[in-house]
Amino acid sequence: MQKVLFIDRDGTIIREPDDFQVDLLEKLRFLPGVITNLAKVARETDFVIVMVTNQDGLGTESFPETAFHPAQNFVIQTLADEGIEFADVFVDRTFPHENAPTRKPGTAMLTKYLTGEYDLANSYVIGDRPTDVELARNLGSKAIYIRNPSFPLEGDDAQPRVELAQQRAERRAHDARADQDDVTLAGCHRQRSTGEGLVDARRPRAR
Ligand SMILES: [Mg+2]
Repeated sequence: MQKVLFIDRDGTIIREPDDFQVDLLEKLRFLPGVITNLAKVARETDFVIVMVTNQDGLGTESFPETAFHPAQNFVIQTLADEGIEFADVFVDRTFPHENAPTRKPGTAMLTKYLTGEYDLANSYVIGDRPTDVELARNLGSKAIYIRNPSFPLEGDDAQPRVELAQQRAERRAHDARADQDDVTLAGCHRQRSTGEGLVDARRPRAR
């Protein structure tokens, strides 16, 4: 089964401008290393590469199609020239308040990939917002989150896996210590009841 790399555009492939809208060629800048590394992925792995992007209000007065396509075509063409071909490019045009099922983290645009013919468990979503991580969860895939101070992850998602593993280990160690204390206290209790004197086994004995 084929694995898929679902990749976000703004903030992931290209820089996201302060007004969140790439509607002029002058606003278009590739993020460092993206072309080189995506080319490597395309050349050396068998992932199907798919772009999934939310473009708020595309086609409305606030973001006309004619403002979107020059930059979008430039991105697609530049990447294609480096051997990076998108199997599909999905663009959602809704605003967040519309809560459209097509808008990330919704999967309604991606039904083609939900038929069981793709290895979603070993697929990835790469993006710079919690909604990209949420999309991965909704697909049953893994997420690679590109740190974005304006849209940080929250809760367990916010912590690198290694920190979570560390915390789990600390919790286990704490639980083990608590169990030990129970045993020690039980031992003290027994000693008291047999009249042998109370010894706090947690303190080193004086020699
Ligand atoms: Mg983004």
